[in-house]
Amino acid sequence: MTIYLHQEDLPPDVLAPGSIAIDTETMGLQTPRDRLCLVQISDGRGDEHLVRFAAGSDYAAPNLRAVLADPARLKLYHFARFDLAAIRHYLGVVAAPVYCTKIASRLIRTYTDRHGLKELVRELLGQEISKQQQTSDWGAPELSDAQKEYAASDVRYLHAMKVKLDDRLIREGRMALAQSCFDFLPARAELDLAGWPEIDIFAHV
Ligand code: MN
Repeated sequence: MTIYLHQEDLPPDVLAPGSIAIDTETMGLQTPRDRLCLVQISDGRGDEHLVRFAAGSDYAAPNLRAVLADPARLKLYHFARFDLAAIRHYLGVVAAPVYCTKIASRLIRTYTDRHGLKELVRELLGQEISKQQQTSDWGAPELSDAQKEYAASDVRYLHAMKVKLDDRLIREGRMALAQSCFDFLPARAELDLAGWPEIDIFAHV
């Protein structure tokens, strides 16, 4: 269980084959304005890899791009919409195929409106994660140990949560609907970047 910090790219061959959990940290919520600072990855085996981008980075990152664009690797996110837009904008790749734990949660946990990662990890896995560093300065020259731990914990539980969420999606007969929503997420992120961030194009008005 180790957190590895890398600068500007993922080293080659550090991930086991198969699905990977992905999260990003940025300077804020407006993707074109607020630069991508960190991409976190877990292959579900217990280690987390953090790839850090300095101010002024060219985001070349060939190894990271190849992993993110690999159609053979399912990418697990919590709120994929945001991460897909940031990755698309800064790294130039569509990081699909997609599984989003927040969308899955919305489709099965209809008894609550609390679909944050902290809440989901607590209910499904009985684990506690801290959200204290969420709004910290991810562009700082050095990341603190608390930031590294927070960033890593955002990808640490996604594989285990997928197992639980899949059980519940099957039980409630909503797996096919969930899959359709996951498949749409790259287009939803593209709409965010293309100028329809808060507009529901499916709405009547
Ligand atoms: Mn995060």
